[in-house]
Amino acid sequence: MTIAEMAAAVLAGDRRALARSITLIESARADHREQAVELLTMLRGSGREALRLGLSGTPGVGKSTFTEAFGMQLAEAGRRVAVLAVDPSSARSGGSILGDKTRMEQLSRHPNAFIRPSPSQAHMGGVARRTREAVALCEAAGFDLVVIETVGVGQSETMVAEICDLFLLLMAPAGGDELQGVKRGIMEMADLILVNKADGDLLATARRTVADYAGALRLLRRRPQDPPDFPKAMPVSAVEGNGLEMAWAEMEALARWRREHGHWARRRADQAAYWFSEEVRHGLLAVLEREPAQGIMARLAAAVTSGEYSPEAAAQQMMRALGRS
Ligand code: GDP
Repeated sequence: MTIAEMAAAVLAGDRRALARSITLIESARADHREQAVELLTMLRGSGREALRLGLSGTPGVGKSTFTEAFGMQLAEAGRRVAVLAVDPSSARSGGSILGDKTRMEQLSRHPNAFIRPSPSQAHMGGVARRTREAVALCEAAGFDLVVIETVGVGQSETMVAEICDLFLLLMAPAGGDELQGVKRGIMEMADLILVNKADGDLLATARRTVADYAGALRLLRRRPQDPPDFPKAMPVSAVEGNGLEMAWAEMEALARWRREHGHWARRRADQAAYWFSEEVRHGLLAVLEREPAQGIMARLAAAVTSGEYSPEAAAQQMMRALGRS
């Protein structure tokens, strides 16, 4: 299959071609990378735009259960839903958050859904960069909604926030003390905090937790890209399906508001600039790994170790050498 044929098949919504093209963009081989860039460039003009939804939360909070219930609801309503995972732990363990086949069993079989586990690349930046490209492929394939799921650890949220249009934070019912431990930076990224497991014995705690988060959100500085009543906190039960329609209505309302006020396009433009600079940074680091840079680097490091050069003088020499190459 040529790249042009692959592009045509993706545009036609062929999910096998979509899966193959995601495999292509995840490949670390230099010739694959060239083909991947060619493919992404061809698909840029598709004019299709999905709602890119980031979803984060600690393991066990109910991300898979939520995504399945929420995704099924939309898929049943005729929308096409893609789910991608960014799992920083998969690089270490070789596993992945969506790797477990029993997860999202219903959704994975639905004709309107496409589910793709996290690529296992060497480092977080790599995983997120390729996920962003996978989102673009899903968009070209005509998906209306792309959910980007990530575990709430480390820098993965920051990366996902640079990919998505809306960022959802899934939280567990908790006491006030636990709420204190939630990092401010993560709260600041959220457009909607969903307190999951608002059912059965946990219902009362969940409602209190929603009130606590709502209070904490009011203390944050108001963001110009939001209507006055956002970000919001609300209860959901992924297991019982409660609150999912309301959550979707809020997401649509926020998306509409941002589109009407120009924030949507601006956010995407800023994200494009961010990823351009990330790619360049990554490319520069890759240059250091290759000859002749690596050899010069090794020689200068030895000179620093032996005391012949100071670290700063050696670094300056290195930068000069790179500037010439
Ligand atoms: P993830 O690790 O964030 O993807 O969490 P899972 O979706 O695997 O859910 C972890 C556990 O929480 C499972 O045992 C679920 O059945 C349970 N769970 C998920 N959502 C709910 C909910 O809405 N209510 C209750 N009571 N349990 C839930």
